[in-house]
Amino acid sequence: MKTLFEKVWDDHVVVPETADTPAILYIDLHIVHEVTSPQAFSLLRSQKLPVRRPDLTLATMDHSTPTVPGSTFRDLAVVGENAAQQIRQMEENCAGFGVDLLGYGHANRGIVHVIGPELGATQPGKTIVCGDSHTSTHGAFGALAFGIGTTEVGHVLATQCLLQRRPKTLAVTVDGALPAGVTAKDVVLAIIGHIGVDGGTGHVIEYRGSAIRSLDMEQRMTVCNMSIEAGARAGMIAPDDTTIEYLDGRPRAPTGADWDAAVARWRTLRSDDGAAFDREVTLDAATLQPMVTFGTNPGMVLGINDPVPSSGDASFRKALDYMRVEPGKPMTGQAVDVVFIGSCTNGRLSDLEQAAAVLRGRRVADGVRMLVVPGSQRVKDEAEALGLDRVFTEAGAEWREAGCSMCIGMNGDIAQPGQLSVSTSNRNFEGRQGVGARTVLASPVTAAAAAVAGRVTDPRTLLGQQES
Ligand code: SF4
Repeated sequence: MKTLFEKVWDDHVVVPETADTPAILYIDLHIVHEVTSPQAFSLLRSQKLPVRRPDLTLATMDHSTPTVPGSTFRDLAVVGENAAQQIRQMEENCAGFGVDLLGYGHANRGIVHVIGPELGATQPGKTIVCGDSHTSTHGAFGALAFGIGTTEVGHVLATQCLLQRRPKTLAVTVDGALPAGVTAKDVVLAIIGHIGVDGGTGHVIEYRGSAIRSLDMEQRMTVCNMSIEAGARAGMIAPDDTTIEYLDGRPRAPTGADWDAAVARWRTLRSDDGAAFDREVTLDAATLQPMVTFGTNPGMVLGINDPVPSSGDASFRKALDYMRVEPGKPMTGQAVDVVFIGSCTNGRLSDLEQAAAVLRGRRVADGVRMLVVPGSQRVKDEAEALGLDRVFTEAGAEWREAGCSMCIGMNGDIAQPGQLSVSTSNRNFEGRQGVGARTVLASPVTAAAAAVAGRVTDPRTLLGQQES
């Protein structure tokens, strides 16, 4: 009897680990981007090595690209010289090493963790790596997917293999029906709040239970995306009909007899009844509510109407000082300067639809800047076909080009010192969205509600679901 993780791991071990050496693990898909690949390509050049499997390597540009509406490859001045240099280098490296690049202006370009799934390159049972922590996103398909460092990017480019210690397993079961106004983002923030930012350290999390099974693929990606924020190596959800329907017909999904064989194999990718996990945690979906962070890591999180805790150590008090938050009071009512809808956590079509549902017929509050940044060019095109761009712009929000944008602020999209940003991204560390910027993580619904109200607010009051 094996867990889902054990099945995928065992399928990819080239050389088992010993007490002295990690395992050598075969990698099925390597996604690279402009920030963590330049040194890796330099390593290949210095060793006179080719990319071993260009056909298993997919490159895009996302972190440093401009999101200014209508920007083109010629407008790189807006992102600053460092970012522009990364973009130019990526073009040169991919051309020089024969790597498929979804470059600036490409119809399929987008954030690494958005394009893999939407192209059907992300598939159940694969090992997937990328030089970005939130590679755990791809685990929503039953893949074993995790972030790697720059040196490891070089190792995978050169060998298609990686040295890895086998992680432990943690089952997180969420059963029951989610209350109205509670989204996948709220579920994963609640999980991180429950187990802590180091609760998953050394483990691969498998998300299970009826509440997880009820999520669509985009929502499942939101959950797996933030596994790393609980310290986990990866997050996984067993593939099912929802997964298979999502992948059917995608450009890089198998076709014909290959599709039938793949589906038959994917259906075996579930934890066997009775398979043992190293740890297990259970949450009741019915008790969950919209969640917001109040501190400077994603584990400093609470229900929208709950008071900020009043006890804590020196680092806890430092976080509250940085955030200018008072213990004993809820986050509701905090004045908002910036709202960011986007990122690999919440920059997909359904996320934009949820935010648009709040904004339709309403206005962004005076003094609030709202950026809506699609996770990929495909998401942008699909959103525009549905008229969501007009919903956002008519409400007074900015509708931007696809990219990471204010998740990390490498392209100049930042909040100013002291500004409070309600963000659908995944990290609220000090300075993550700009020096001195204060970040509150929330779902697209809660972020959109904050934009309308001009303060942190219970989104259910705007959705007509509950008085706060
Ligand atoms: S959106 Fe943020 S977390 Fe995701 S890939 Fe880009 S920078 Fe990394």
